[in-house]
Amino acid sequence: MKTLAEYQKIAREEGWALPHFNISSLDQLWGIALAAREAQSPVLVGTSEGEREYLGMRQVVALIRSLREEGVPLFLNADHCKSAESAIKALEAGYDSVHIDLSKESYEVNMRGTQQVVVAAKKKSPEVQVEGELGYLATDSSMVYEKEIAIPEDSYTNVEQAVEFVEKTGVHRLAPAVGTIHGIAVNKPRIRFDLISQLNAVVGDRVALVLHGGSGTQDKDLVQAIQEGISNVHISTELRVAYREALDASLQNSPKELAPYRYLMPARVAVQQAVAKKIALFGVQGKQ
Ligand SMILES: [Zn+2]
Repeated sequence: MKTLAEYQKIAREEGWALPHFNISSLDQLWGIALAAREAQSPVLVGTSEGEREYLGMRQVVALIRSLREEGVPLFLNADHCKSAESAIKALEAGYDSVHIDLSKESYEVNMRGTQQVVVAAKKKSPEVQVEGELGYLATDSSMVYEKEIAIPEDSYTNVEQAVEFVEKTGVHRLAPAVGTIHGIAVNKPRIRFDLISQLNAVVGDRVALVLHGGSGTQDKDLVQAIQEGISNVHISTELRVAYREALDASLQNSPKELAPYRYLMPARVAVQQAVAKKIALFGVQGKQ
């Protein structure tokens, strides 16, 4: 098994993408782990601030570590830390990676805060990876929106700024804003492939480019985004939908069932199937 940094590097060189899936329950984690083991694929597991507060940071670190010890190449990312303090807490708990997201702050504040997290991560361990974000996504929540979501013109990542940001912060991954949103809206996202390609040309040799808000994006668009230089794709809402729908059906089908491991099993299987499809789509099967 390789390190996260090595997988990121190979993904960039070979043109596939490391999947990132969020969890807030052990059933979701098992769904992901079983799919990853079956496909022999490295996977980043993410917890947002709310998700890790619910799960317990040290507890989720121990879960991921225990699966890795059994040969499943899972790595843990603290998704969307909204402050340096939040990222540093995750580092102290033993996360493999932190995503510092100050993208809604001014460029200067974003740069300084991200630099601070990179310094803290290096102090913790040379293995720990840091993701920064530049440009912002129009939505924060991984939910299904019953309306169209417009992408503000000023939200897209500025290419010159991205070069400076990568140089000055020393991040390992960069999440640009290229037209996706968090969650699923009525309108399909229109991805700026030209922007991905430009960013890849100027910083692609130094950082992995991360696509957030992959849910609700058509398969062919995800494939093209990967071809243009994306090497890490976040999927959250689609897994939440699969989990919830399977759980609803399970509870309806067995209204008297009291054993959680029985009525939760269909939800876990639904997550496993959804993850297996994304693993195949991202070209990461057998890359362990
Ligand atoms: Zn995200």
